[in-house]
Amino acid sequence: MHAYWVGILGLCFAAFLYMLYHASGKDTWLVRVVIPAYAVLLGGITLSAQRNFHVRSIFFNGCIAMFALFWVRNFGDGMMGNTRAFDLPVILIVPLLFIMALDIKRLLMLAPAQFVCVFFYTWFFASQNFNAAWTPSELLAFSLVVASLSGFSICLFAAVAFSRQRADQNLFALVTETEKLAATDVLTGLMNRRAFMEKLRALWPTRSEICIVFIDLNHFKPLNDQYGHAVGDEVLCKVAQRIGDVPHVELSARLGGDEFAVLFDAEACEETMATHIETLHAQITQDMRWESGVIPIGASIGYAHGQTVEQSLSGLLRAADTAMRRAKSANTHWAKFNPLVDNDAIASSTLEMELKSAIKNGQIRAAVQPIANAHSLDVVAYELLTRWTNSGFERDPSPKDFIPIAEKLGLLNEILWVTLDEALTKLNLTDQKLAINVSPAQLVASDFLESLLRILERHDVRPHAITIEITEEVAFRNVDRNVAILRQARELGFAIALDDFGTGYSSLSMLDTLPLDKLKIDQSFVQKSDKSTQSKSILLAAIRLAKQLGLESCVEGIETEQAARRIALLGADTIQGYWLGKPRLVQDEPPSLKMVS
Ligand code: C2E
Ligand code: MG
Ligand code: MG
Repeated sequence: MHAYWVGILGLCFAAFLYMLYHASGKDTWLVRVVIPAYAVLLGGITLSAQRNFHVRSIFFNGCIAMFALFWVRNFGDGMMGNTRAFDLPVILIVPLLFIMALDIKRLLMLAPAQFVCVFFYTWFFASQNFNAAWTPSELLAFSLVVASLSGFSICLFAAVAFSRQRADQNLFALVTETEKLAATDVLTGLMNRRAFMEKLRALWPTRSEICIVFIDLNHFKPLNDQYGHAVGDEVLCKVAQRIGDVPHVELSARLGGDEFAVLFDAEACEETMATHIETLHAQITQDMRWESGVIPIGASIGYAHGQTVEQSLSGLLRAADTAMRRAKSANTHWAKFNPLVDNDAIASSTLEMELKSAIKNGQIRAAVQPIANAHSLDVVAYELLTRWTNSGFERDPSPKDFIPIAEKLGLLNEILWVTLDEALTKLNLTDQKLAINVSPAQLVASDFLESLLRILERHDVRPHAITIEITEEVAFRNVDRNVAILRQARELGFAIALDDFGTGYSSLSMLDTLPLDKLKIDQSFVQKSDKSTQSKSILLAAIRLAKQLGLESCVEGIETEQAARRIALLGADTIQGYWLGKPRLVQDEPPSLKMVS
């Protein structure tokens, strides 16, 4: 940018000088040639500072033309004996000024020309101005020295041009690399989402119909957790490479995580699409060989085919995504978007998209519900429950709506860290415990306990103050690993509670398998126990079973005082329910004994 100002100021100065000479009546041929030449030169410096290669090339060729014109004019003068005493310095300096900003190639081309021209011009000049005193060999030596110096000056300019060119090349390479990086997914080398969308947008008007394919790997998160991130990365790279090998794939991109997108070329029409998708699926899902054995890779594919005049790009993308989700839930490997079936699903995918931003925007909040001693009614613990506030939907989604979605998207731990952090800033856990809900998918995350301990440490809370509530599902997925993690958690001081006991896949053998401290008996038993003697018997049996196994029993869903009394008589240790207190946001009203009792 400095060159820009040098050029502008120089131009102004040259114009001013010319006007000065003109006004003073000294407007000779020298002034008329040299000052515009300076003007051209400085103008060139200004233009080349713009780093516009086209402008630069025009400027360079203009400089060479001026150099040639200069020599034609002055060489003629020299040959005809029209040289004067001060012409030699002009001859030596002015052509250099014309060409000093050129590139190395042009400079090296002009150096011999300058040498030859200067040599002969000097010869003519010296023989015309000093011919009486100098011998031919002195003339030759003088001309040679002057010509060599002049040629050498051009070589010096060439050296400067070389380093400038190198700097330009480096800059160019850097810009190209930066642009490439901004458009590339670093791990797989495929396009990223932004670049893919840009390419699609550019292609959209040139095609009459288009087919967009969405790919999502199956069970990628557990695979990552089980084999580690290095293997996970390897799988993603392999899948990216396999996608590229499928015929008719025109564009492919990694949209993020384990999601990929593909655009088939114009040859792959609607009739042949099913075959192409099948090939794509077969290619991606080949087993991957790894040092420790074979890793199976699963994928769900959804595609949507549309006329570009009728549909919007974002609509078609969403349709392909929805079809992929249907393929995943129905376990059909791949599915084509069908408006009759898939339009409802678009509503649930809206929930998914909103949930991701809700976590970032602080709409996911911590609520706590008290748990009290069944006899004294003293609050002994709180259960941390998540609330989605200010969601923008007609009614804020309940945990039953969004927890399964968060689980599917692998967001449960993120939600736990956010809500736990919020709760711990407000709760005083000196006399009470805090129970957190942890699903099996959360437990298997390789850094689960580490992250949990880190948050507790930040709030100066000991693991003894925390109860981990798990559901019976824990015993059905990765049971060995889950049991190992729970044992480790217990050794660290956490208490483990089995939540919603009596529902789902209840199995008594599980009580033996899982390392437990507490049994939370599902609320459905209390609610039915005043009408059904069978439910009452099950409730009683569950409380006794807990006692015999040395576990603390907690009965959920206590909505009335009578229910609380009844449960206390049945021998439960603790109770939880709306009668004691509903779950409340920790921030609006910090929970205390007064508030919840
Ligand atoms: P849960 O762990 O069994 O929690 C108790 C649920 O019962 C809560 O529902 C609570 O509001 C409700 N409840 C408590 N007392 C009564 C009562 O007297 N009557 C009735 N009808 N209901 C009562 P909520 O908050 O809707 O949560 C539902 C489930 O969602 C929870 O069941 C828990 O399994 C899960 N959940 C909630 N937050 C989280 C979370 O942050 N992470 C995970 N993994 N799961 C969560
Ligand atoms: Mg619970
Ligand atoms: Mg429960």
